[in-house]
Amino acid sequence: MTPFLDLKTTNAQYRDELVAAATRVIDSGWYVQGTEVKAFEQEFSAYCATKHTIGVANGLDALTLTLRAWKEMGKLQEGDEVIVPANTYIASILAITENRLVPVLVEPDLVTYNLCPKNVEAAITEKTRVILPVHLYGQLADMPAIMAIAKRHSLLVLEDSAQAHGASINGKKAGSWGDASGFSFYPGKNLGALGDAGAVTTSDDELAQVIRALGNYGSHKKYENLYQGVNSRLDEIQAAMLRVKLRHIDKDIAARRAVAKAYIEGINHPSITLPDWQNEQSHVFHLFVIRTNQRNELQQYLLDHDVQSLIHYPLPPHKQHAYSQWETLNYPITEIIHDQVLSLPISPVITTKQTLDIVTKINLFKGN
Ligand SMILES: *Cc1c(COP(=O)(O)O)cnc(C)c1O
Repeated sequence: MTPFLDLKTTNAQYRDELVAAATRVIDSGWYVQGTEVKAFEQEFSAYCATKHTIGVANGLDALTLTLRAWKEMGKLQEGDEVIVPANTYIASILAITENRLVPVLVEPDLVTYNLCPKNVEAAITEKTRVILPVHLYGQLADMPAIMAIAKRHSLLVLEDSAQAHGASINGKKAGSWGDASGFSFYPGKNLGALGDAGAVTTSDDELAQVIRALGNYGSHKKYENLYQGVNSRLDEIQAAMLRVKLRHIDKDIAARRAVAKAYIEGINHPSITLPDWQNEQSHVFHLFVIRTNQRNELQQYLLDHDVQSLIHYPLPPHKQHAYSQWETLNYPITEIIHDQVLSLPISPVITTKQTLDIVTKINLFKGN
């Protein structure tokens, strides 16, 4: 069986370095808010070309705490609207509703699966304060267009970069376009820790300070609390793991792109739409997502032929029980995407033989 993702082999590439880093932390006697986190934050800021990185507990917290910080800073208030793609992973939306802000779901572009600038523009009302683009599957949203809209309407931009570490347009990376950006380092992400982890990047000094305080019980200074904060911090051990992984991320991305290229050059099937790849640097292929109206049949066929695939995501947020108030809303493009997408195995360690074998099998798929 070719697994969808083999994390064991992925991390085994760097086993010696990971063990050395873990040992360093264990032996240091210091496990929270120490030198590893500080060093990772600097290294990740340098990688993204932002002034600040604030380590937090996970990607959801990165988004939630950023919106919360803007509320504390008086830039947002309850009831303000946040424009977000309707086909995103639920976490982007949870961050909005957790803050009692109002998600305004907009249809994505059916070619890129990312936020469609025209639909963003049409959704703007006088209550709109934030645009939250999601760089879905690893491809950067159309940030030049989105930033231009935000500027024209004086809106804040929070990128959800959980799937797009290292993706760039015109040399400008995910995390450095918006006013702030949330990253996840969940183990399966392109930059994955060995447990939960996340970060916010920003070049806004005040925002960075407020987020840092909010994630530390609302405290800038020991035993002094400015806000009713939470405990959401990046652990030393995960920061140490991430420092190792960050050193290799560009090589890992290149390996993912090589797999994507082999799929794109090899797969030739009348009922399959391949992913759009705007330019070499724009996509880091966190996921390789194809689309077909015989999705369930193809997934079963692949499984019967020893290939595991996944669906990202089977049910859109507006069809989830958690948001039953949206049940009657219609998002036809979003629904087509959720009915038709299938994610093929991709990782830095899948072999050329495995990839070409999947290509051959897909091209022999007869369907109904
Ligand atoms: C993974 C993910 C998140 C959430 O990150 P966690 O670290 O799992 O909390 C948010 N948004 C998107 C698009 C994601 O893929």
